[in-house]
Amino acid sequence: MRKPIIAGNWKMYKDLTEAVDFVQKLLPLVSDVSDRTILICPPSPFLKDTADEACGSNIMVGAQNLYWEDEGAFTGEISAPMLKSVGCTYAIIGHSERRQYFCETDETVNKKLHAAIKHNLNAIVCVGETLEQREKGETFKVIEKQIKVGLDKLEIDHWSLVIIAYEPVWAIGTGRTATPEQAQEVHAFIRGLLPKNVAGEIRILYGGSVKPENVKELMAKPDIDGGLVGGASLKPDSFAKIIKY
Ligand code: PEP
Repeated sequence: MRKPIIAGNWKMYKDLTEAVDFVQKLLPLVSDVSDRTILICPPSPFLKDTADEACGSNIMVGAQNLYWEDEGAFTGEISAPMLKSVGCTYAIIGHSERRQYFCETDETVNKKLHAAIKHNLNAIVCVGETLEQREKGETFKVIEKQIKVGLDKLEIDHWSLVIIAYEPVWAIGTGRTATPEQAQEVHAFIRGLLPKNVAGEIRILYGGSVKPENVKELMAKPDIDGGLVGGASLKPDSFAKIIKY
């Protein structure tokens, strides 16, 4: 059985007070949840305070990005050991906004994935096609390359730290959700690309305008193992409703 994960990607929103307040408000709303993993991914300046606030609870804290070197002259970057030292246990890698605005590629995604694994961080690797690629019938070709290159050179014992998020770019922040059938079709395709001996264990999350109103039907699909939620993860009550779909 794959344990579902509901992950909130806060992107570049909130200040420190709002971030800590969010955790304080979410804690009592989800304290009875044990059958799914709850994850928040705040902006990096708030990781330590949110992790401290959530310490000992069922709320995990993850980063939205990391760099692949452990340390060095890389101004502005944050490494996996740094994330671990402030209480992070997860990292999102290769979000489409990172690919679009910060020139991330499948090759850099792969380097970041290996850095996360080396330091025992759970990695949520994002893949997804643009609207143009979908309309040209290239969805499966695009996803296949993102998976093959982004998840290259993994050894069998690395896979337990790997989570995949299918996030069609045209559904992120647009209010336009993939239908459960569209999402399931791609999730099943992704699972088919994974090594046979691990495919059944890997969690594949859907992301793209997940809301309290649509999460249940998405989660009913056999290959959808959770959600990566942007906008609707910013308020404790709507995020709690998604967690308790
Ligand atoms: C995301 O940030 O990964 C995302 C899916 O955003 P939204 O839920 O707002 O579409």
